[in-house]
Amino acid sequence: MKASRFFISTLKEAPAEAALPSHKLMLRAGLVKALASGLYTWMPMGLRVLRKVEHIVREEMNRAGAVELLMPFVQPAELWQESGRWDFYGKELLRLHDRHEREFCLSPTCEETITDIVRKEINSYKQLPINFYHINTKFRDEVRPRFGVMRAREFVMKDAYSFHADYESLVRDGYQPMYDAYCRIFDRLGLDYRPVAADTGSIGGTGSHEFQVIAESGEDVIAYSDASDYAANVELAQTLPLSGSRAAPAAALEKVSTPDVKTIVQLVEFLNVPIATTMKSIVVEGENGELVLLLLRGDHEFNDIKAEKLAGVKSPLTMAAPEAVRAAFGADGGSLGPVGFAGKVYADYALEKGADWVIGANENHCHYTGFNFGRDAAEPEFVDLRNVVAGDPSPCGAGSLKLARGIEVGHVFQLRDKYSAALNAVFLDNNGKSQIMEMGCYGIGITRIVAAAIEQNHDERGIVWTETMAPFTAVIVPMNYKKSEAVRQAADELYAQLTAAGVDVLLDDRDERAGVLLNDSELLGIPHRIVIGDRGLKEGVVEYTVRKTGETCSVKLDEVAALFA
Ligand code: ATP
Ligand code: MG
Ligand code: MG
Ligand code: MG
Repeated sequence: MKASRFFISTLKEAPAEAALPSHKLMLRAGLVKALASGLYTWMPMGLRVLRKVEHIVREEMNRAGAVELLMPFVQPAELWQESGRWDFYGKELLRLHDRHEREFCLSPTCEETITDIVRKEINSYKQLPINFYHINTKFRDEVRPRFGVMRAREFVMKDAYSFHADYESLVRDGYQPMYDAYCRIFDRLGLDYRPVAADTGSIGGTGSHEFQVIAESGEDVIAYSDASDYAANVELAQTLPLSGSRAAPAAALEKVSTPDVKTIVQLVEFLNVPIATTMKSIVVEGENGELVLLLLRGDHEFNDIKAEKLAGVKSPLTMAAPEAVRAAFGADGGSLGPVGFAGKVYADYALEKGADWVIGANENHCHYTGFNFGRDAAEPEFVDLRNVVAGDPSPCGAGSLKLARGIEVGHVFQLRDKYSAALNAVFLDNNGKSQIMEMGCYGIGITRIVAAAIEQNHDERGIVWTETMAPFTAVIVPMNYKKSEAVRQAADELYAQLTAAGVDVLLDDRDERAGVLLNDSELLGIPHRIVIGDRGLKEGVVEYTVRKTGETCSVKLDEVAALFA
C-alpha cells in the first residue's frame, strides 16, 4: 500500500475525552473516529487491524469445526418474548418498531435467533452435534459507554452456538473445543490472557469461563491462586453457590441481576485498604484492622455512591428485623425476593463481630449476601477475613489468593437447555424419542480485542503491534521521496520486491517532513521500519528498526527482503 493512495490521519494530542492509553492511541493513530457516545467509525487503518483479528478468529473457528452463517442485526420481539429475555434483558436491549408497529430489537447476542433456526432445521440425532458461528455487529445500550471501543454500544462480536444430543457431547464436542480454540486465538494474537471461571450474567446457563486480558485498566477483577489453576472473576468468586443444602436454587440464581464490580473497586480504592474476596461477600480490612463488609446490590446505578455519604456511617441499612429473614428463607431454600433482609442480618453480624464500617444498599437484590443464607439464615457463615487478607488459600485450597485486573475479551457458556427448552428445540434420539437439545454459546469481542491489545502493547511513542495484528508488517520511510531520485527509485523497488514476496508493506510516500513520517511510524506501531536516505544509499544500505525493542541497524538494501523471508 502506498500512503499517498491510502488514508492516514494521525493526531499530535489525544482528544480530552480519552482517559485510557488504548483509547488515546486509537484516536491519535486515527484507527477509529467517534460518531456519538459508544458509536465509532473504523477508519481504514483501524479496519485493517480489525480484519486481521477477524481472520484469525475465523480460521480457528473453522479449524474447530464451527460453521459460519450470518444472522440479522434486527430481530423480532416475538422470539425474545418466547425466551423470556424481552423483559429480563432490561435497558441494554434497544427496542424499536417498524411502520406496522411490530416490535423489534437490535441484537445484543443471538441465542434466540440461532435456536429458532436449529429447531426448524434439525430434527434428528444424526444432525448433531453442530456448531454455528457468525461475526457481526451487536448493539447494547450500555449505561456507561466508555474507553472507546472497549465498552461501546455498537461493536463487533464473534458468537458461536453449539447444539448437542447430550451433556457429554456439549462438553466434549462443543465447550472444550471452543475453549481450546479461544486459547489458540489469544495465543496467536500475542495477548497475555487468563481463562477464569465466570458468572453467566444475562446470557444465563451453568458452566462458564471468561478469557481475560491482564491489564491495569481492566474493568474486571480476577482472583487467582498463585499455586494452582484456580482463577475466577470476583463476580463469581464471591457468588459461587454453596454446596449441599445451602446451595441457592438454580432457578433463583438465574433471576439475579449482574453485580457491579466497579462499585467494589471504587469503594476499595476510596477506603485504600487491602481487598479480600471470599465466597461470602467482598470484605476488606480497614486501616486499624477492623472488618469492613461491603454489601452490594446488583444495580449499576449504585456506582454513584459517594465517599462522603459513607464516612462514619455505622449501618445505612434500614431493613426489617432479622427474624423476617429467617421467615423468608424457610425450609424450602428461600427465594431471592427478600435477600435485602439477609443483607441486614449480615450487617448486624459484622457489627457484632466488631466491624467499624458496614457499607450497603438496602435494595431488594443484594444478591451477594443473599446466596450465603440459603436455608440456614439463622447461622450466617462468616469467614475470618483477616486470614484471607493474610494470604489464605482460595476456594481451591492451594496457595494464596491474588488479585489482578482484566479485560474480558471472550466468554464461553454451557447454556444446557435454557434456550432449547424455552424455544422447544427438540430432536429424535436413536430410539425415536423426542429430547431437548443441549446448547453452548461462545463469544469473542472482536473490536474490544483491538483496544485490549493496545492496552498491553504500547509505549510513550505509540502502539506496539504484535506481528499478527499489525495493520502493516513493515513500513518503508523514504527521506525526501519527492526530491531525491535515488531514494524514490530505491523505495519503489524495495516496495515492489516486498509486495511481490507477500509482505504487507506500507510505503510512506506522503509529502511530509521526515520527523512526521518517523513519528507516525512509531505511533502506528508498525513492527518493522526501513528508512531510506541518500546518505545510506551511497553505501548501499538502509536503516532497519524493530518497533518493539527500538533496535536499529544498517542493512544492505539488497538484503532487506531476506529479513522477511
Ligand atoms: P462486559 O462484562 O464487559 O459487559 P459481557 O459479559 O456483558 O461483557 P458477553 O455477553 O459475555 O459480554 O459478550 C461476549 C463478548 O463481547 C465479551 O466477552 C466482550 O469481549 C464483548 N463485549 C461485550 N460488551 C461489549 C461492549 N459494550 N463493547 C465491546 N465489546 C463488548
Ligand atoms: Mg455487559
Ligand atoms: Mg462480563
Ligand atoms: Mg461475559
